[in-house]
Amino acid sequence: MATVSPPRHYRAYRPRPFTAAERKDVTILFGGLTWKHERLVQAALENQGYKALPLPNIERVDLDVGKELTDVGACCPTTFTTGSLARFLRDKAKEIGPEAVNRNYVYMTAGSCGPCRFGQYHESYTMALDGIGLKEFRLFLLDQTELDQGAAAGGGLEMNMAFSLGLVWGILCGDLITDLEYRTRPYEVVPGATDAAVKEAVERMYQAFRSRPNRGRKWGALAWTLFSRYYTNALKDVRRIFEKVEVDRLRVKPRVKITGEFWLQTHEGDGNYDIKRWLEREGAEVVPPPIAVWLDYLIGLALAELEEKAETDPKARKKVRIVKLLQKAYTWSYNRLRGALSGIPAELPDQKVLQELAQPYYHFRLNGGEGYMLVGKALYAHRNKHAHMICELSPYSCMPNTMSVGAMANVMGQHPDLLYSPIEIKGDAEVHALSRCQMVLTEAKKRAQREFDEAAARTGLTLEKARELESKRPGLRSAMAPFPHHGAAGTAANHLIELARRSR
Ligand code: SF4
Repeated sequence: MATVSPPRHYRAYRPRPFTAAERKDVTILFGGLTWKHERLVQAALENQGYKALPLPNIERVDLDVGKELTDVGACCPTTFTTGSLARFLRDKAKEIGPEAVNRNYVYMTAGSCGPCRFGQYHESYTMALDGIGLKEFRLFLLDQTELDQGAAAGGGLEMNMAFSLGLVWGILCGDLITDLEYRTRPYEVVPGATDAAVKEAVERMYQAFRSRPNRGRKWGALAWTLFSRYYTNALKDVRRIFEKVEVDRLRVKPRVKITGEFWLQTHEGDGNYDIKRWLEREGAEVVPPPIAVWLDYLIGLALAELEEKAETDPKARKKVRIVKLLQKAYTWSYNRLRGALSGIPAELPDQKVLQELAQPYYHFRLNGGEGYMLVGKALYAHRNKHAHMICELSPYSCMPNTMSVGAMANVMGQHPDLLYSPIEIKGDAEVHALSRCQMVLTEAKKRAQREFDEAAARTGLTLEKARELESKRPGLRSAMAPFPHHGAAGTAANHLIELARRSR
């Protein structure tokens, strides 16, 4: 008689315990951000007594390794990041052996749920680990919506409030330095001066995060993080570092705002064809996307959900008040950190405003990927003249992004003057993607020049006269000179208007 074997049920991945006793010998690997953010996250982890190491920056070869080891339909960010982890571990295993890798390293990554593969990253990782003979390797997921998650299996990784606040503030400071970097480099007088300043600034902040005082694990840590001057004082040193960089803001350049999927828009390297540096080489000024906006978006989503519940549940009403307070504290803290850098890095856009701008095209409760933000950010930058052009980085095989790009077709129909370049990133079709971007960039360059010429005609200032005025105020050639927005999208046009205003 034929026998039927019992069904093999799906079991979600569960890592082996990582115990507190192992902490001194185990290195926590992580990645997925820029080297600046990762360096500060590393410092925040070291400060909590962990050994931490960011994975090497993504390279083109990681795509091939990822394709080899994970499922074929995976989105481009999943393939790249899986390949990056697998390549690092495979090389390590050759060096010290698989048992030592399983014993001495763990990987920490953010997790989520919802209609996006982001919630399934760990499944891809486990499939790849299986493929390279490291099934026992441990992965830990950090819930990006919880500041106090307690200890992970085994107690070796304790994700309490002090731990999470260190990571979040490290990310915020990484954003602020990145904003200064991209505002400065296209106008630097001495080539390489900005990169050198960024390096020095990140190291200064690394030291600050590494040696931050311990003020408890919960409310003490929160109060200290919000109200002490520790980080603002360290950022004032960053300001002094950038003050020394000389810039020529009268160079006319189109401003290109980067939007798109979280990983692709944040990344700097082969994973997105190094598009930010490429745009700079093509003569543009890039407006990079701060991770802080994403965190603000997550708070906004949680709030929207609670507000719906609050209509029938009194307990949810209390939570709504708490989350609103948290949202205010977050924006206030970001502005406080910006203030230490003379307020030069951009403010966070109001999430309610982004939602309203996007609402006719994209419902704010559709929350896969970047949700309403792709539409909202494009319209926000366009209407407020923060950029001449939007470059949206869409990953190959990404469901949420495909929906946003579809919605953008409607936006473009109603805003034909918006310069929009959606680029599908597969990782191996560079020429095609960059040439599409170049076409729109050519028009953006013309707009930037037209805008500058109009500002010159309005103010009666020629370029020569503007340079003469500048030479009388050499402070205005510092990267940290005041930088008001006078209603133009371009840096040169705004600077020209500012010079005219000061010369009256
Ligand atoms: S948003 Fe798209 S690209 Fe990003 S993880 Fe989700 S499915 Fe992949």
